[in-house]
Amino acid sequence: MAQEWNIRSRGHVCSICTKPLVDKAPVISVLKELTDGYERLDCHPECWKAAPRDWEPFSSWEGVYLAPPPPDAKKEPLKKETADDLLRHLIALEDPAMKNVVYVLAVMLERSKILIERDAREQEDHTILRVYEHRRTGESFVVLDPRLRLENLAEVQQQVVALLSGTKTLGEVSAAEEQAKT
Ligand SMILES: [Zn+2]
Repeated sequence: MAQEWNIRSRGHVCSICTKPLVDKAPVISVLKELTDGYERLDCHPECWKAAPRDWEPFSSWEGVYLAPPPPDAKKEPLKKETADDLLRHLIALEDPAMKNVVYVLAVMLERSKILIERDAREQEDHTILRVYEHRRTGESFVVLDPRLRLENLAEVQQQVVALLSGTKTLGEVSAAEEQAKT
């Protein structure tokens, strides 16, 4: 299960030549599948093209490297920070009962333009692993799309809203989701 829940931050130096990545310049980001998760590489496009390799990436995409903002940069509205912090927290928990909640939250963050979908890989059981990248920080998130049925969507959205507003705890939502499956 562990490989379905993964966060990787973006590097600030090229994974191949180890020279710094350049602010606002193209960067190739790559996820390499390991037995217990993913390794992430961030490379100058020319280094990625030139480097020999004997393995196939799980996922790769071209983005734009953004240097971390200076400490005095304006903060995003509180609500948005709370939603993406919650996603990090949920992914780190690796609670299988929360898989629908994690996916619906990721979709909500994509709709509010905080995440960009970079790749989607269908698995043998027809679920999909979706790779999202955080627009501002460049972190990558591998999220399982459980192919929720439409009639279950509203209920899961309510759980996400309850978590964001603080009316329910993670433990309460996890118990309710576990119950909903049986
Ligand atoms: Zn390089």
